[in-house]
Formats: sequence, structure tokens, C-alpha cells
Amino acid sequence: MTEYSVDYQGVLEEIQDEVRPFFGKGKNADYIPALAIVPGNKFGMAIHTVEGEEFLIGDARDDFSIQSISKLFTLMQVLGFEGVDIWSRVGREPSGTAFNSLVQLEYEKGIPRNPFINAGAIVVTDILASRSADTSRRIGDFYRMLSGNLSNRVDETVALSEQEHGYRNAALANLMRSFDNIQSPIPDLLDVYFRQCALTTSCADLAKAALPLACGGYSPIAHKQILTVRDAKRINALLLTCGLYDAVGSFAYTVGLPAKSGVGGGIVAVLPDHFSVAVWSPELDSYGNSLVGSKALELFTTKTGLSIF
Ligand code: GLU
Repeated sequence: MTEYSVDYQGVLEEIQDEVRPFFGKGKNADYIPALAIVPGNKFGMAIHTVEGEEFLIGDARDDFSIQSISKLFTLMQVLGFEGVDIWSRVGREPSGTAFNSLVQLEYEKGIPRNPFINAGAIVVTDILASRSADTSRRIGDFYRMLSGNLSNRVDETVALSEQEHGYRNAALANLMRSFDNIQSPIPDLLDVYFRQCALTTSCADLAKAALPLACGGYSPIAHKQILTVRDAKRINALLLTCGLYDAVGSFAYTVGLPAKSGVGGGIVAVLPDHFSVAVWSPELDSYGNSLVGSKALELFTTKTGLSIF
């Protein structure tokens, strides 16, 4: 099937039907209590083509917690700075460990494997904080610019919930500080990090916000070049190899798109020069990725024949 004959809306309707048996097989994130109470049977999906067409299904306009998907947007911001040397402080390899693992960080002297595990994202946010005042607002403004939706705000309940249960993230930040890989005061840094994870978004907004990765760094929503073509290519490569924690190999095998997941149940993926796609369903698999969302994306690339491979 060529993309010209794809009936995106029809495909979304089929997917919505076919994912039904998978509800109840995963579990909401409960280490952040505010995420545990979101109804598990929510499902939304949004596609945004580079030509400007939008296709939505189910709860595609409902707000949910962006969580780790925010790491993608802080990385975009940091790569936009002139002359910043992020790669001496964060690696570019898959971790093969859980998103919040401490073990590898000790062995590897406080240098996180990649910017998409929690430790790596905390370093990226630290770099952003060292270059800007009011970092939290700056992160929110950047996201709202890319999504085109001014109502994407920090959910204070989620931010507080993360703060109150953020023992592992505090441990990661302190361990990296002991290796001199964190510069900001840790409570301030964690506050910014928790607030970026507590941003709300919908599938419709997320698909728009990810468009620069499908459009050679250009945002058709903000009407602005956000990244160089080269950095867009590099981020897509990192997403493919590191975007889904230690399930990244299976996800590349079953879905075949660069993608980023979050424990709020969202996943965003892109096919460069074609589209971005966002899916949301809160129940997670054992790796912390949306179980129904992963299945929906597998069905999507299988039915359309559109993937990077
Ligand atoms: N806020 C979450 C945490 O720091 C993000 C994790 C995720 O979405 O994978 O644990």
C-alpha cells in the first residue's frame, strides 16, 4: 500500500476496535499516585501529516500527563543552543536497564547512557537550567509553541505527587552530583524536572509538537525552524535506539518508528517526511510503556505498511 492510498481515518477506526481485548492486561503507573487514578480504559490516537492533515480517534483530545515524553522537548531546546557540549555529560547508547535504574550510573561514573532515561534527562534539564532563568516556564512555553495550544499547563497535583515520591530521581541526581555531572542545586533541579514531566497534553497536541522531527526540524505549527536538519536526524536516531527504555529493540521490531514513551501512557512516533502519530492509553506493560499504545502503533504500521524499514 502506498501512503497516497492510505485511509488514515479508516485505519484508526479499525485499530480502536482491535485494541479492545488488550485493556486490563497492563497497569497504570502507581509509583506516582496521581497517575494511578486515571481510568485505565482511556484510548486516543492522533496523526498529523506533513501536508497538514489531522486524523483523530477516541480520546485524542483528552489531556494526560506527558511524563518522559517531555525529555524529547528539553533535548530539542538544549540542542538549539550554540556550542553546547551535551555529549561529554550524557551518552548516546541504549541503556538495557529500567528508566530509573541506579546501578549502571555507579559503574559508569555518573554519565547516563542516554538523554531519555531519567538520569540523562535530569542532566539535560541541568544544562537548560544553567543557560536560562525561569527554566520551568521556558520548557512550558517551548512546548506550547510547538503544540500550538496555550492550555498545555503543569498539573500541580501530578507535580506534587512526583515531588513527594521522587526518592529514586533524587538518588540519581545526588549520585551524578557526586561525580560532578550536576551543577544546579538539586532541589531546584528536581522541581524543574518534575514540573516538565507534569505538563499536560493531548494526543492531538503531541502529534503537532513532534512535527519538527518529521519535517527536517521545521515546525509547521510554530512556522519556525526549531532544529537543524542534522539535529532532527540525530534525535530520530536516538529515539529509535533509546526512546522506549529496555523495550526499545522489541518496539523497533514490532513498530519500526522512532518514538518516545512516558509513564502517563503516551507514546509519540514519527515517520520522517510523512507524519507524526501520538497514542495514549494509561495501562503500562512491565517496561513502563503503554501496553495498548504499543499494540496500536504496531497495528498502525502493519496496516499502512508505513515505517522507516
Ligand atoms: N516523571 C517520571 C519519573 O521521573 C518519568 C518517567 C517516565 O515517564 O518514564 O519517574
